[in-house]
Amino acid sequence: MATAYVYEFTEGSREQAGLLGGKGANLAEMTRLGLPVPPGFTVTTDACRVFLRTGSTPEGLDREIAGHLTRLEQVTGRRLGQADNPLLVSVRSGARFSMPGMMDTILDVGLNDASVIGLAESTGREHFAWDSYRRLVQMYGATVLGIDGARFEEVLTRRRRERGVTDDVSLEARELAEIVREFKSIIRADTGEEFPQDPREQLDRAVSAVFHSWNGERARVYRGREHIPDDLGTAVNVQAMVFGNLGPDSGTGVAFTRDPGTGRAGVYGDYLADAQGEDVVSGVRDALPLQELERLDPDSYARLGEYLRTLETHYRDLCDVEFTIERGRLWVLQTRVGKRTAEAAFRIACALVDEGVITWPEALARVDGEQLDQLTFPRFDAHADTMLLARGIPAAPGAAVGAVVFDVAEAVRRAGAGERVVLVRHETSPDDLPGMIAAEAVVTGRGGKTSHAAVVARGMGKVCVCGAAELDIDTRGRRLTAADGTIVEEGAVVSVDGTAGTVHLGSLPLVASPVTRYLETGTRSPGVVEAVARCLEQADEIRRMDVLANADTPEDAARARRYGAGGIGLCRTEHMFLGTRRHFVEDMILARTDAERRRALDALLPLQREDFTGILSAMDGLPVTIRLIDPPLHEFLPDDTESAIRLAVARATGREPDRREVRVHEALEVLREENPMLGLRGVRLALTVPGLIATQVRAIGEAVVARIRAGGDPRAEIMIPLVATVKELSLVRAEVERVLADVEADTGVPVRCPVGTMIELPRAALTAGAIAPVADFFSFGTNDLTQTTWGLSRDDAEASFLAAYLDRGIIEVSPFERIDRAGVGRLIRIAIDEGRRGKPGLRIGVCGEHAGDPDSIRFFHDAGVDYLSCSPYRLPSARLEAGRAAASTTTDADTR
Ligand code: PEP
Ligand code: MG
Repeated sequence: MATAYVYEFTEGSREQAGLLGGKGANLAEMTRLGLPVPPGFTVTTDACRVFLRTGSTPEGLDREIAGHLTRLEQVTGRRLGQADNPLLVSVRSGARFSMPGMMDTILDVGLNDASVIGLAESTGREHFAWDSYRRLVQMYGATVLGIDGARFEEVLTRRRRERGVTDDVSLEARELAEIVREFKSIIRADTGEEFPQDPREQLDRAVSAVFHSWNGERARVYRGREHIPDDLGTAVNVQAMVFGNLGPDSGTGVAFTRDPGTGRAGVYGDYLADAQGEDVVSGVRDALPLQELERLDPDSYARLGEYLRTLETHYRDLCDVEFTIERGRLWVLQTRVGKRTAEAAFRIACALVDEGVITWPEALARVDGEQLDQLTFPRFDAHADTMLLARGIPAAPGAAVGAVVFDVAEAVRRAGAGERVVLVRHETSPDDLPGMIAAEAVVTGRGGKTSHAAVVARGMGKVCVCGAAELDIDTRGRRLTAADGTIVEEGAVVSVDGTAGTVHLGSLPLVASPVTRYLETGTRSPGVVEAVARCLEQADEIRRMDVLANADTPEDAARARRYGAGGIGLCRTEHMFLGTRRHFVEDMILARTDAERRRALDALLPLQREDFTGILSAMDGLPVTIRLIDPPLHEFLPDDTESAIRLAVARATGREPDRREVRVHEALEVLREENPMLGLRGVRLALTVPGLIATQVRAIGEAVVARIRAGGDPRAEIMIPLVATVKELSLVRAEVERVLADVEADTGVPVRCPVGTMIELPRAALTAGAIAPVADFFSFGTNDLTQTTWGLSRDDAEASFLAAYLDRGIIEVSPFERIDRAGVGRLIRIAIDEGRRGKPGLRIGVCGEHAGDPDSIRFFHDAGVDYLSCSPYRLPSARLEAGRAAASTTTDADTR
């Protein structure tokens, strides 16, 4: 049988959203439920895809449409565009995923010079008939023929001005008829065509225009933002028109089965008497609360309530509908599972469980980690007056206010004096860390969502806006200039909205989050907090994966614990070598003899021991996975440029250069690498710089002993970064065990630390079977694994071509944000499979950024990962998402 490209509303169902689009599938579902849906049919997304591929509608579509149109005419007892009492249809887009207002719609198809008279007679409303015809010619001209919509608007504006009125309703029928004539002459002049009088031609060209609008600018941009694939295409719904603007006994509105803002029970919505749907949406007239309909038309109100209950029970979720009352007769034009705020999502999920409508696993499918995150951030008061300085990429959500500073020293100085600061940089590097810690928010001129600034800020729970390219940042002059010329000097207060990606001048009032208070203190309160708490408890109960934190200070460890971490899955140790301790590392690098090196490392030992003791104490009784030093050594040396200049000046002026500066400079020459990210770092460092890891391991061992002696329950684990071959791991492991045995011998206290490896290089993933027997656990470093699998440096790619790749659809989402299932994901699956074959029961985690990403969490669950480790601030949403992933395997009710 040939493919059917057209389905009656009576033929489809909600399961067919892929073929019929969301709107078409739901229209079919409502028709099957017996709701009063104006009859019609849907042209499928298959037909659209043929159109997009070939530039013309598929063979046979004409005939199919003719057949369905005939049936529609039989059902309604009227022919499309007949001269008296004509059938008119709407032609609306409807993709699989809702893309509100992004594609085209054409209403009143079927009107022409004859049927407009018939419509005026059958409805007894001449004004209405001509206004409808005016709308059709205008929409057809703009949408089908591509004429600039402003041409038509100019005519309307002139007519209104001449008549001294402000809206079209006040124009007379005669004037509307003249406007139609003018519109038709615009069409003639612009295209050389006449506005078609044949209703079937109108219909066919309207259908093609809707197909075409799938690739309109608005739609493409929207899809990019919402991660909707470009090749889905849209369906087209052709439906008999009903009119809400036929007098006081007519009207139109939208209704929700519950309040989509707060989730409270009870019918909620807007109603506008004697109006068309677009009047409600455009807000030209103030709509009344839906409850007013009860007074105006109690019968329709009661029936609407009944339909809403039917829909909510059937869809088992919040639904919204668009409805029209035509002369006392209620029609439902559209329904869908309704959009809602984050607060409403949690409250509705719990309410539906309490009402016995859904189970807990289903409830977890109706909320998500992103919504939970939204509830945890302070917000700016939505009513505040603002002066926008710039827009950038919303890299780390939340809202913060502070004085602008342009360098680390100033950030630290002002914050030390109790001032709130916002650090503004072109981009950030590890050198900026102290400034980022001191700041409330970070704003950069360059870089994207996974730039250094973004990753570090998210990790620290700081607000961050990246890539605010409109800002002219002058760090030397200590000022920035906005695109409109506004100059902001250091110390001026700005407000940064990391959720919206905006920077504002002045101090906007903040509203604190009660959900964060709950997470911090456990204080519950009715409403959204209670709903979030219950969902999290359920997620914890149902999830298979443990959720740990990436934390490297006792403060972060304590917060992680409050936020429900089951331990630390990644304690990075590099910050323990920065700041005031930097000179010890410098000493170590500059050491000429073993004794000198020993002295430098010995100076670091007690400081590191203290660090580890603090963290082990904060995480007492829970695992703390400490990763040995990872970054290349040059990162611990001062910036070379200034010292090079100083040395050159000294030489040129015959002065004796500073001896230490010369040595640092020489060391930098030796350590310089073309590609440091692929150079001497991670395990390679451990194997080539004598004594470095021995010092770290001794500090860990002694911290464990200190905690045991203090009566604690330390569970330190040691993790080796950037392993490529099992030999590296065997060698380092032997060294680790030797040092721990020494500590044991020195102290008489047994020290047991599992030793595992990160899997963050493709070679490690591909040889996991050989590595596993030497490792007590694996942890995927998906940041490096993504970099090395794609062969692209995260920071460089983000700053340069990644945006262009996203724009052109070469990639849909940055692979640093969401795990690339086909590539990196495949390596992960191979490593898990072969790793567990090499060592049955091997414990496997993920500690890259992806461990906190909702979509990636689903993948890790499916791939058999045992635990996630993410920044403390992402813990609640990771717990929720791990629960949702487990829940989805027990239910397929995820209808969102
Ligand atoms: C990783 O590579 O994913 C990882 C966790 O290590 P880092 O981000 O510190 O390189
Ligand atoms: Mg790494």
